[in-house]
Amino acid sequence: MAKVTKVLDKEFVPFIGKEQIAERNRQLGAEITKEYQGKDVLMISVLNGSFMFASDLVKEIDLPMDLSFVKYASYEGTESTGKVKQLIGFNAQAVKGKHIVIIEDIVDTGRTMQALIKDLEVMEPASVKVVSLLFKPEALKIPMTIDYVGFEIDPKFVVGYGLDYDGFGRNIPEILVLKDI
Ligand code: 5GP
Repeated sequence: MAKVTKVLDKEFVPFIGKEQIAERNRQLGAEITKEYQGKDVLMISVLNGSFMFASDLVKEIDLPMDLSFVKYASYEGTESTGKVKQLIGFNAQAVKGKHIVIIEDIVDTGRTMQALIKDLEVMEPASVKVVSLLFKPEALKIPMTIDYVGFEIDPKFVVGYGLDYDGFGRNIPEILVLKDI
């Protein structure tokens, strides 16, 4: 029987382990390092969910880079509200002319990413790409390409490694999935 972890009122079981995440971070870091040689890079971590992934990923990228943070929100509990709000925005001068790599924890419907890219594009970056640790292709509502994907997963609710359930579970060092009832 898989170990059950309770976060608030819900039960979660192991899904993607610490070593698997670390190995994938090394591979993604190597790919990004290769692709962005000699380019003026600005990595943008999307808070709160991507803080742990961003922290580990940037250590695997061997490039001079600028790193900043933005905050968008669309989730309440385990459901997407369908509306995306910008809570902390961009510094337009820092974006202009830069090669932007957005660091996301998870792309679900794609609404957050769409809102973010739209806000970014008016600031005239040289390019915009996305690295997301997790991607739920079956949940995607807005057609888009995620340039670097850690793991493609089924449309189930996950927590841990920065991802929360109503604010809790972010500190869990691995990714857990909601237990089937
Ligand atoms: P989207 O806008 O693509 O629907 O959702 C993106 C955001 O929703 C993510 O940054 C994340 O905060 C949240 N989200 C989507 N799926 C999950 C999930 O399975 N678990 C958690 N904890 N958050 C999720």
